[in-house]
Amino acid sequence: MDSPLDEQQANAPVMEPEGAPTLASELAAPTVSRAYRCQCGRPVFLRNSECLACHTPLGYVIDRLGVVPLAPAEGGGAQPDTFTVFGDPHGPTYRRCANLMTPAACSWMVPAAREGEALPVDHQGLAPGYCLACSVTRTIPDLSLESNGELWRKLETAKRRLISQLLALGLPVVSRHADPVHGLAFDFLSNMPGGPHVMTGHEHGVITLNAEEAEDAVRERIRAEMREPYRTLLGHFRHEIGHYYWDLLVLPTPWIDDFRTLFGDDRADYAAALQHHYEQGPPPDWADRFVSSYASTHPWEDWAETWAHYLHMADTADTAMSFGVDATTSSSRATSSAWPTCGSRSIPTPENSWTSSTAGCC
Ligand SMILES: [Zn+2]
Ligand SMILES: [Zn+2]
Ligand SMILES: [Zn+2]
Repeated sequence: MDSPLDEQQANAPVMEPEGAPTLASELAAPTVSRAYRCQCGRPVFLRNSECLACHTPLGYVIDRLGVVPLAPAEGGGAQPDTFTVFGDPHGPTYRRCANLMTPAACSWMVPAAREGEALPVDHQGLAPGYCLACSVTRTIPDLSLESNGELWRKLETAKRRLISQLLALGLPVVSRHADPVHGLAFDFLSNMPGGPHVMTGHEHGVITLNAEEAEDAVRERIRAEMREPYRTLLGHFRHEIGHYYWDLLVLPTPWIDDFRTLFGDDRADYAAALQHHYEQGPPPDWADRFVSSYASTHPWEDWAETWAHYLHMADTADTAMSFGVDATTSSSRATSSAWPTCGSRSIPTPENSWTSSTAGCC
C-alpha cells in the first residue's frame, strides 16, 4: 500500500518548461472517440450488435467511425431490414453485414439505398452483402472443422479493430474487389498435413496469417520462444499492414528518400538479412536504435515494427482519452473545456496527468 508520502509525490504536478510542446499537450484530444454509447446512455463496445440494457440494435457505421444505435428505416422508399442511425430517420440507410450470424459475428453495417436511389459511392468494392471489413477477407479457415469457427471469430474481431483505426486515421482501405492490383486482401490459412508451414506475411497487398495464431496457447508459446512481447493477432495485423502501406505510400513516392535516410537502404538483400538475424541474433545495441529486436533485421522490418508501435500507442491514447484519462498537464488543463459528465456526476478531476478517472463509470 502507498504511504501518504508516496501518494503526495505521485500526485505532485509534472513541471515542464513554460511553453514547451510536450507529447501530452499534443495529445489533447483523441483522433477518434473509442467510447461508444447507446441512445439509452449506456456504454457499448466495438463487438456489440445490440444494447444489452435496452435492446436497441447497434452497428459500426463507417460514416460515423464508431458503433452507433440504430432504428429500423421507415418511409421514403426504405427497403426491408434496413436501418438508419438512431435520431436521424431521414439520413442514409444501412443493412446488416451478411457475416453477423456466422462465426465471424460481424456487427458492421453495409450502405444500402432507398428505392429509386443509387447505391452510395462507398458501396463500390464491397463483396455483395458484406461490409468493408469482411470484404477484405479473401480466404477463411475451413469451417467444416468446428474449432475453426472460434479461430475465425478471433481473427475477424482483431481485423475489425485494425480497420476501424485505419479509417479513423484517414488511410485508404481499398478491397481487392475495387482494385485488383493495389487492393487489400487477407488470407487466413491453416497448415495442411504434409504441406508447407503457413508463414505470416505480406505480399503485394495480400496479408497471410496462419490461423493457428488465433489459438491462444499456440501463439503464447511462440511469443515466449521468439521473445516478441507484441505477438498478438492485432499486433500481427498492424505489422503486416505497415508493409502494405509502405508499398502504397512510400516506395512509389518522394518519401522514399527520407525513408532511406531514416531507416536505411531497403535494397539490402532481405533474405540474407533475415538469415543473419536468425543465426546471429540482433546487434547487441539494438535497444538503443530500434523499437524491437526484429526491427533490426532490415529497413522493411524496422518500418513495419515502427508503424505497428505507432498504431499501438495511438490507439491506446485514443482509447484512454475517450474514457476520460487526462493527457494534459495541470496548467494546460486549467484552460481546457469542462470535464465530461457521467449521469449526474461530474467526473473527478485527476490530480496528475495520465490518471484514469472513469474506471468503473456507469
Ligand atoms: Zn441501450
Ligand atoms: Zn462484416
Ligand atoms: Zn514484416
